[in-house]
Amino acid sequence: MRMTKGLMVVFSGPSGVGKDTVLRALLAQEDSVKLSVSATTRSPRPGEQDGRDYYYVTREQFQTMIENGEVLEHAEYCGNYYGTPLGPIQEWQGKGYDVILEIEVQGGAQIKEKNPDCVSVFLLPPSLEVLESRLRDRASDSEDVIEKRLTAACDEIQQARNYDYLIVNDTVEHAVEQIRAILCAEKLRFHRADSNIERMLNYAKTIS
Ligand code: 5GP
Repeated sequence: MRMTKGLMVVFSGPSGVGKDTVLRALLAQEDSVKLSVSATTRSPRPGEQDGRDYYYVTREQFQTMIENGEVLEHAEYCGNYYGTPLGPIQEWQGKGYDVILEIEVQGGAQIKEKNPDCVSVFLLPPSLEVLESRLRDRASDSEDVIEKRLTAACDEIQQARNYDYLIVNDTVEHAVEQIRAILCAEKLRFHRADSNIERMLNYAKTIS
């Protein structure tokens, strides 16, 4: 049987909106989904692990990855570089897994341009007030970083209109349910599901 290529899903939303929590809950429910691990020049936050949350690299190493064509997209965000390693994505999609790229909006736009067939989802907070208090509760960031991230959040929310789907993160369960519905519906879109029709028509030829 032909293995259907998995979806490439761009998942964006302002810092502090709860993307990680939603994606962790999704991965716990869906074993057909893989999460891309990005490379970054920012320092690990407490509790983060190299290779699980990010690949933490120096600016020089990041530059080398770009020069060697090892990243699908990259962007600068709040003074640090972030990029999506290409290899694992191609491998997982080829094996039929849906691959989620949790990236900011500049990277999302680059992916959409290079891969128009990708599916893009933007996660919104219930309100800006909720977002601000979530950013402040994350005690690991300094006031300066919080301010930068809030400004970046407002800029990012303006880009949400370029995405295919908008989800409001009112509860994690609801957001996960909606992502699963999107994945399901996207796989049923005609251009992805038409191999079934081809098979039937080929069979019809043999019996007519
Ligand atoms: P954080 O520092 O909070 O982990 O991430 C900051 C922002 O960078 C988030 O919006 C996150 O989605 C985004 N990001 C993480 N990895 C990548 C990546 O590989 N490429 C791009 N363009 N953005 C990324």
